[in-house]
Amino acid sequence: MATENVIIIGSACAGLTAAVYTARADLNPLVIEGYQAGGQLMLTSEVENYPGFPEGIMGPDLMALFRKQAEKFGARFLTEDVTKVDFSKRPFSVTVQEKEFSARSIIISTGASANLLGLKNESRLMGKGVSTCATCDGAFFKGVPVAVSGGGDSAVEEALFLTKFASEVFLIHRRDKLRASKIMQDRLFKNPKIKVLWDTITEDVLGEEAVTGLKLKNVKTQKNSQISCEGFFVAIGHTPNSHLFSSYLKLRENKYIETAPNSTKTSIDGVFAAGDVQDFVFRQAVTAAGSGCMAAIECEKYLEKIHQ
Ligand code: NAP
Repeated sequence: MATENVIIIGSACAGLTAAVYTARADLNPLVIEGYQAGGQLMLTSEVENYPGFPEGIMGPDLMALFRKQAEKFGARFLTEDVTKVDFSKRPFSVTVQEKEFSARSIIISTGASANLLGLKNESRLMGKGVSTCATCDGAFFKGVPVAVSGGGDSAVEEALFLTKFASEVFLIHRRDKLRASKIMQDRLFKNPKIKVLWDTITEDVLGEEAVTGLKLKNVKTQKNSQISCEGFFVAIGHTPNSHLFSSYLKLRENKYIETAPNSTKTSIDGVFAAGDVQDFVFRQAVTAAGSGCMAAIECEKYLEKIHQ
C-alpha cells in the first residue's frame, strides 16, 4: 500500500479548496469526498454572497466548479464515506469500508450538519420552503410570511434577517424564555414584524409541492393550531461531523475540533482541520474556503519539515 502525502476527508468549500492548493503544490492529494459530497451548499439554492459571482450561483453549481478546479490540478477523488481512522500510528490510517489507506498528513473538512426537528415532511420539503440557512435563502421570501424554529442566537438572528424580506416572521420556541443573548432579544422584541409563539412546538410542515404552513401545538395548553407561511427556517443548532475523530483529537466542549489560534493545526501534528468542523463562529462558504487554503499551506510546510 503506497503512502499518500495527504488525504483530505470531506469535499465541500474547505476540502475542495485544500485540494486545489495541495494539488497545485504537487502533493497529489486523495480526496475522500463522502456520499454527501459538496456539503451544506448542496442543500441551498442560490448563493448570492460568494465573491466573484455577482449574478449569484446555485450552491451545487458552485461546488461542481470547485471540484472541477481541483481535478484540473490532479486531485484524485473517492466517492465513499470514511468508516474509521487511526491517528495513533504514523503514517496515519484511513479506512473506507474494507479498504485501508495510509497518509503522512490528513486534512479533515467534514463540515457540520444543521440539526433538524425530525418531522414527517421536513426533509421532503427541504429546498421547497424548508431551509436551515436564512442568509442563503431568505431573499426568496419577499412579501410573504415565514417562520423560524428555535430560541437561540441563530434563530433570533435569522428571524431579524428575514424581516428584511418577509411580510411577517413567526418565531416558534418550545419554552417561555429565549436562550439568545440579551442584546439579540432586545432587537427581536423591538421589531414589529416578528411574532413570538411561546411554549410552542412544530408538529409538521404542511404543503405538497412547497411549504404552505405549519401544524403547531402549545405544550402548556396542549392546544393544536396552524399558521400559514411559505418559508420555514429550522435554527436549532448544528452538529459538527467530528465523531469519527473524537478518540484521537481534542474536541471543544461543543464537539467542534479544536484548532490552534489562527491555524488549522489540531492536537496531533500532521492532522489539520478546516471549515465548519472546527468553525462555530462564522460558518460561511467563503470562510470555509479560506480555512481550507490555510490547511493546505500548513500541510505543505509540515510535509517539508518531515521530509528533511
Ligand atoms: P443554541 O444556542 O444551542 O440554541 C438552539 C435553540 O434551539 C435553543 O433555543 C433550543 O431550545 C432550540 N432547540 C434545540 N433542539 C430543539 C428541538 N428539537 N425542538 C425545538 N427547539 C429546539 O444554538 P444556536 O442558536 O445555533 O447557537 C449556537 C452558538 O452560536 C451559541 O453559542 C450562540 O451564542 C452562537 N451564535 C452567536 C450569534 C451572534 O452572536 N450573532 C449568532 C448565531 C450563533 P431551548 O432553549 O429550549 O434549549
